[in-house]
Amino acid sequence: MITYELIKKKRDGLELSRAEIAFLVDGYVDGRIPDYQMAAFLMAVYFRGMSNRECLDLTMCMLESGERIDLSPVAGFKVDKHSTGGVGDTTTLVLAPLVAACGGTVAKMTGRELGHTGGTVDKLESIPGMQMEMSKEKFIQIANNVHVSLMAQTASLAPADKKIYALRNVTATVESIPLIASSIMSKKLAAGADGIVLDVKTGAGSFTQRYEDAIDLARTMVNIGQNAGKKMVALITGMEQPLGYAIGNAVEIREAVDTLDGDGPPDLLDLVLELGSHMLMMSAMAPSLSAARKILQNNIDNKNALQKLGEFIQAQGGDPGIIRDPRLLPQPLEQIEIRSERSGYVEKLDALEVGMTAKILGAGRDTKDEGIDPSIGILLKKKIGDRVEKGDCLAVFHSDGNPEKIVPARQRFRAACTVSHRKVDPPRLFYARLSEDAIEEFGA
Ligand code: URA
Ligand code: CA
Repeated sequence: MITYELIKKKRDGLELSRAEIAFLVDGYVDGRIPDYQMAAFLMAVYFRGMSNRECLDLTMCMLESGERIDLSPVAGFKVDKHSTGGVGDTTTLVLAPLVAACGGTVAKMTGRELGHTGGTVDKLESIPGMQMEMSKEKFIQIANNVHVSLMAQTASLAPADKKIYALRNVTATVESIPLIASSIMSKKLAAGADGIVLDVKTGAGSFTQRYEDAIDLARTMVNIGQNAGKKMVALITGMEQPLGYAIGNAVEIREAVDTLDGDGPPDLLDLVLELGSHMLMMSAMAPSLSAARKILQNNIDNKNALQKLGEFIQAQGGDPGIIRDPRLLPQPLEQIEIRSERSGYVEKLDALEVGMTAKILGAGRDTKDEGIDPSIGILLKKKIGDRVEKGDCLAVFHSDGNPEKIVPARQRFRAACTVSHRKVDPPRLFYARLSEDAIEEFGA
């Protein structure tokens, strides 16, 4: 096969065979195919798209480029959850121990921050002593003993995706549905769960801002998972404004603890209960979605889920004392209040821009090998639809006190948040649910 001809074929809108896709993926991983040819191919896919069959083949080729985790030594049904990425998305930190407290098993690979979105690994590493990198044996042992085990994704999982993703990141080819779907699903299939609940985000802070694109992405991923023999459900949820009040690392751990302690933000709790209900149904731990929701709520009310979070933290080397005393989490040098310059209602709180504000403050990395200051972040005091008076606090920056970060962060936040005289409704959280071939769209 000749790489040039395969690029031309995709450029002209023709379908590639499995063997042709394998030739490109394998060739790129082993260095036979240079970056410029792969970049040209990816741009052709960006414009021409892929058929379901091509997308499935691309996923399988990337999956087969690396190791697959065998979770068969873990007893029971292993359920995973994956979000396509959002701002202040604290759900995994709440869901994983909660589902485990209800009898499910969550053994999950999880990532670091990507673009403007935070990563569960970085958040958990703000807990003193917490180990997110471990051997497979340890990961499986914790999953069997505690029923929840979260591990940083290793480089040996779908290495083709790792290399292609890095190239997409610098060639403006990230926002392609077949490329996002194959990237996510190759890693999910490699991680070995029996069932996957997908949280596909739409709105300002997501990678699929348009609702139709989110539906298309969800449908593509559900299709790939089913073809690989997995149980699949996808929810389309809103990411117009950040989820909950906390955006950052230590602040989101605190928010997760508060939520499991029965004192969480309503939107975060609602999303957790909805995703969790599907996870329990898939795991055959509940007879119906409404029964599942009750089981989840009971395990918050009786503090079993909070206790499970403590067990999980302890099993992975962290200090479980943080669930009783949040002062054991890294504390910021300075807290800065951002106050409203007018009275009215919060009309806009752009998730992407708030995510970027947190990054400017130092909650994220500038270069890929940099460390993160876990104490930095943002605590929102108001969300879309809330009434504010002039001088009210809109948000608190958790900062390292560096004015070179604070000044631009303040400007960015002011642009992200607008207050108007008009009364505004909070944005929708739930848009649709996809399972098998059924799409159920929820009313506004
Ligand atoms: N997350 C991924 O893992 N891959 C993508 O392409 C986009 C989001
Ligand atoms: Ca949050």
